[in-house]
Amino acid sequence: MKSSSVTQTQTASQEKQQSPQIKVSTQTQTKTIDKLIKDYEAIIGIETHVQLSTLTKAFCGCPYNYGAQPNTSICPVCMGLPGLPNISVDIPIATNGYVDLDLPVEFGGGHRRYSVSFFLNVISVSSAPGIAVDLNRAGVPLLEIVSEPDMRNGIEAAEYAAEIQRVVHYLGISNGNMQGGSLRCDVNVSIRPIGRSEFGTKVEIKNLNSFSSVNRAIDFEISRQVFLHSQGQGSSIVQETRLWEEGAQKTITMRKKEGLSDYRYFPEPDLPEVIVKKECIDSIQNSLPELPEMKRRRYESMGLSMQDVLFLANDINVAEFFDATIAKGADVKLATNWIMGDIAAYMKNDLEASLENAMCSMVVEKAGGGVRQAKPSIVDPAHIEKMVDKVLSENPKQLEQYRAGKTKIQGFFAGQVMKLSRGKANPGLLNKILQQKLNATS
Ligand SMILES: [Zn+2]
Repeated sequence: MKSSSVTQTQTASQEKQQSPQIKVSTQTQTKTIDKLIKDYEAIIGIETHVQLSTLTKAFCGCPYNYGAQPNTSICPVCMGLPGLPNISVDIPIATNGYVDLDLPVEFGGGHRRYSVSFFLNVISVSSAPGIAVDLNRAGVPLLEIVSEPDMRNGIEAAEYAAEIQRVVHYLGISNGNMQGGSLRCDVNVSIRPIGRSEFGTKVEIKNLNSFSSVNRAIDFEISRQVFLHSQGQGSSIVQETRLWEEGAQKTITMRKKEGLSDYRYFPEPDLPEVIVKKECIDSIQNSLPELPEMKRRRYESMGLSMQDVLFLANDINVAEFFDATIAKGADVKLATNWIMGDIAAYMKNDLEASLENAMCSMVVEKAGGGVRQAKPSIVDPAHIEKMVDKVLSENPKQLEQYRAGKTKIQGFFAGQVMKLSRGKANPGLLNKILQQKLNATS
C-alpha cells in the first residue's frame, strides 16, 4: 500500500480549481469574453500517454529503472539504430473502447461515456540535466489513449484524465504519476459558433502534467479563441502546438503544426502484424479486477450518495480498505462516514501515514456490524478555530493567567472547546489550533 497515493490521486475536482478566466487585458474584457463564450461551443479531444510499468522495454530486454545513471541500460534495439525494428504509432492496437465517468455534482453531475482508441508507442529520446542525450528511457512502452473530440470544457477534460489515472491505478499497469511524467495529456481545442456543424481550426496544447493545468489550459484556450473569433480575427487561429505556461497562466506558441509527412512516418516492413485470438482477449477480460466504474455502480447500489461513491472509489487503496471493512460486517453508511471523516483527516494531517497505520490505530468491530470510534467528528480547522476563538473571548481571565505563565490551564480551554463541540472536535486539531491561538502575541 503506497502511503502517498491518496494525495496523489485526488480527483480533478478535488485539485484546486480556478474559475475559467482569461487575462487578455482588463476586467471589462474578461466579462465580455464570459458573455461571448455562451455563443460558442468548444470541441475538445485528449491524447493521454501512460508509461507502462513493464520490467523491460518494449522490444528488447533492457530493464528500465527510473533514476539510473544515464545511458547504462541501452542496446542497439532501443537506441533505434538503422535497420532495426521500430514501430509506427498510427495504427491503433484497439478501437471501440470507452471510458465511463461520473461528473461530481458541483460540475453538473451525470454519467458520461467517451469513445477511445489505444495505440502502442515507445518513448524515443529524453535528456537529463548536464547530459546531452540519455537513452535509458528510449524504448519504454507508452500506451496512448486517444479520445474522440467529445468534451466541451476544461473540467470535463480534467475529470476524464483523472478517470484514466484511476483505471491505470486499479489495473496496476502504471504508477500514473503526472509530475514524474508517467501520465501526460495533450489536448486538442477548437471552437465554433453554436449551431454551426463544421469544426474550427484545432490547436494542440502539449505535455500537461496536472489535472488543474488540463482544466485551466483548456479554459484559457477556449477564451483566447472565442476572443479572436469575436473580433473578426478567426483566421489568426492557426493549427499549431502550444504550451501551457503555469506562471503566466496562459498558452503560448511552441511550434506551427507540421503535416504528417514532416514526421517521416513509414510502415516498418520488419514488424509482422500481431493477431490476438479471441480466447486470449477473453482470458484477459476475465482476469480484470473490478474497475472504477463497476465499483461506483456497486457502491451506488448500496445506497450511498454520489459524493460518497466518488470519494471511496477515487483511490484503489481507500476502496479496498472500505471493501475490507464492509466484508468484516461493518455498517455501510457508518464505515463511509468514518473513512471520509476520521481516516481522511488522519491521512491529510500526516502524509506519511498509510491506511495500514490508520487501521492499526482504530479498531473495526467484527461483531454487531458496527464500527467503533465511528462517532462523527469535526475535522474542519476553520470550524474548530471559531470555537476556540469563542472560548478564548469568553474566558479573558484564564487567558491572562495562561499568558502570564500558567500554561497548565491549556487543559481547561481544551475541555471548554470540546464541550462546545459536544465531544465531536478532532482532539489533535483542537490542541494544535488552541496552542497556536494561546501563544499568539496579539
Ligand atoms: Zn535495449
